[in-house]
Amino acid sequence: MSKTITEQNVRLLIDTLLTEGKRVLGPKAAGTMTLYEPLSEGGELDLGELPRRSAKEAFFPLCETILTYERDKEGVRVTDVDPQAIPETVLIGARPCDVAAAPVLDSVFSWDYQDEFFLERRRKTTIIGLACTRADDACFCTAMGLSPSDAKGSDLFLTPINGGGYRCDVVTDKGEALITTHAAFFPDGNGEPLPMAEPTLVKLDLEKIKGWLDVHFEDPLWEEIAERCAGCGACAFLCPACHCFDIVDEGGDTKGARRKSWDACGFGKFTNHASGHNPRDVQPQRYRNRIMHKFTYYVDKFGQRLCTGCGRCIRACPVGIDIAAVLEEINLKK
Ligand code: SF4
Ligand code: SF4
Repeated sequence: MSKTITEQNVRLLIDTLLTEGKRVLGPKAAGTMTLYEPLSEGGELDLGELPRRSAKEAFFPLCETILTYERDKEGVRVTDVDPQAIPETVLIGARPCDVAAAPVLDSVFSWDYQDEFFLERRRKTTIIGLACTRADDACFCTAMGLSPSDAKGSDLFLTPINGGGYRCDVVTDKGEALITTHAAFFPDGNGEPLPMAEPTLVKLDLEKIKGWLDVHFEDPLWEEIAERCAGCGACAFLCPACHCFDIVDEGGDTKGARRKSWDACGFGKFTNHASGHNPRDVQPQRYRNRIMHKFTYYVDKFGQRLCTGCGRCIRACPVGIDIAAVLEEINLKK
């Protein structure tokens, strides 16, 4: 038997979690947009829109300090930031295309180096996913092998039901633990699910696309698509699966901090060498890397794709580059 939860109890659950000292993140109105933000009360939760930025910031903040240093006449003191200080977190109302990216990122952040900042946040976060009943023209999760009701990556999964409220399915032990400790909010029940969203682009032959990419590192397509790419990086910053970062020391002679900040392979200086040589010195080469990394390099390395079809890069691109259209074009090639 599934559980259910009313809309009012979702908000009361958030208030309870906050009272317990947990950090709660969820969609919240922020000016003209919705963002995944820390909630200070249940009433702030706003599940109407897909948040403008992805939920990856729950584990991989835009910028974070990893150590600080100070120098005085006694010498230099370096202080590591302790990842253990990261608070227990509940991410609530995250969409399937966001949540599915989290396990994909686990692979790279626990590969040759264990990124304790990312991994500690993952360990300490319980994810309550939410099915989508609306899609827009940019959504294509179905073509990426997911769906608007895909619970992959969630610990608990909410499905809107007729008459209001949600069916709540337990996906992991973490989710079970949250339900068990807050049982009063989750009575037994099923409910009739509302019709799910129906993205327009439903199918791509991802194997075929990979096969084409594997043998078309050099191809006129890259010039055709990406000559106009402005290299703004918006696509990477909004993407739930893009994960490049830079580490920079900021400060002066006497004190400062080492920070880890998002980076993007679309930026002109991303691959600039200290010698001044840049192996990707024009924009089409950078856009090619974006596509190759997502649909062939990461597949070869980890058996996963760096795209969940959330459509954010399509909505935001200032020059109208549409990754779903690029994939469709490759899909049609012989
Ligand atoms: S590449 Fe674009 S559509 Fe795919 S997950 Fe990233 S932002 Fe979403
Ligand atoms: S958002 Fe568009 S213009 Fe900006 S880097 Fe991405 S593809 Fe290029």
